[in-house]
Amino acid sequence: MSADLRSFRHLYVHIPFCKHKCGYCDFNAYAGMDRLMPDYVDALERELLFARERYPFQQLETVYLGGGTPSLLPADLIARLLGFIRATFNVAPDAELTLEANPASTDEARAAAWLEGGVNRLSLGVQGFDPRALAVLERKTDAAQAGRAYQLARTMGFTNISVDLIYAVPYQSRDTWLDTLRRAIAWAPEHVSTYCLSFEEGTLLHRRRAQGRVPEVETDLQWDQLDAACAELEAGGYHRYEVSNWARPGFESRHNQAYWRCRPVYGAGAGAHSYATDGVAAWRWWNVARPRDYIAAVPAARADGEELAPRHAAAESLMLGLRTAAGVNPPPGFESELAELARAGLVDRVDGRVVPTRRGLDLHNQIALAVL
Ligand code: SF4
Repeated sequence: MSADLRSFRHLYVHIPFCKHKCGYCDFNAYAGMDRLMPDYVDALERELLFARERYPFQQLETVYLGGGTPSLLPADLIARLLGFIRATFNVAPDAELTLEANPASTDEARAAAWLEGGVNRLSLGVQGFDPRALAVLERKTDAAQAGRAYQLARTMGFTNISVDLIYAVPYQSRDTWLDTLRRAIAWAPEHVSTYCLSFEEGTLLHRRRAQGRVPEVETDLQWDQLDAACAELEAGGYHRYEVSNWARPGFESRHNQAYWRCRPVYGAGAGAHSYATDGVAAWRWWNVARPRDYIAAVPAARADGEELAPRHAAAESLMLGLRTAAGVNPPPGFESELAELARAGLVDRVDGRVVPTRRGLDLHNQIALAVL
């Protein structure tokens, strides 16, 4: 790896525990391992100390606790972890500190610990309100629980809340999706993420579809649902600043923008990925995935990694930048690919930048194919 790595200003911490493994989930997440939590937090602390010695860190602009279900950690453990991060790194006074929460594990004691530990952005995994769609996803929460969690977080003082929703779910009609969008917008969160359900190999949902136990979702319906999201969210005062993300002005996720702008991000925890660059080439590495193996391996938790040659690193930065409505200053060497994408109506030129069109945001996979 280069001796001139750019400093890390963004930290991701993976919490792999879940109460239950949802049928569609292919994240590095495990149910039934709660007893490992104290040892896991110990291991995270050891990895973070090791990382701070080994890599260049500057003042952290964002910290993101993702999972899995970070909200599952008991209040004392999450308080300890947040305190450790703040004591070990120089966290900027105005840093964005996000925690992913599941409505079922959002309670007063935990929310107080999050706030006390400096969490100032909550990402609430609602996914939907329609019981039939939630059942297909094997989500164990319902609309009432999601509403209670949201209101609790608001009442306790969270002023920046993001809500995750999923569309293209079998049995979800355009109307039930519209109802889901409207109910979420009525809460007035600062940020909404809308994810198109994908059937990932190895998941229960993928097996069920292969066995014919859940229906296919018509492509036309998926597009209708995406159109509905664009119309409803825009009318609600949100702007689509990335393929799947909507925000009120000023509430765009700073942490996720670091990924889309190819900024160095250190990822700690089981299966977490890190990205480093010297401004020309880039390096990516990832930790061992299973929590027990991670605990045993720390501080040498790295499983594997790869170097991205300059052309590949530039292609990734172009592809990721074109996920965002703001687009990118294009790196040299992609003129013919960009001309082709412009002819296909997927990108435009604005003041020297290349920006995706609405069609380009909807069909970002075509941009990725052309550029990578
Ligand atoms: S709660 Fe989230 S991370 Fe955990 S199993 Fe469900 S979808 Fe996966």
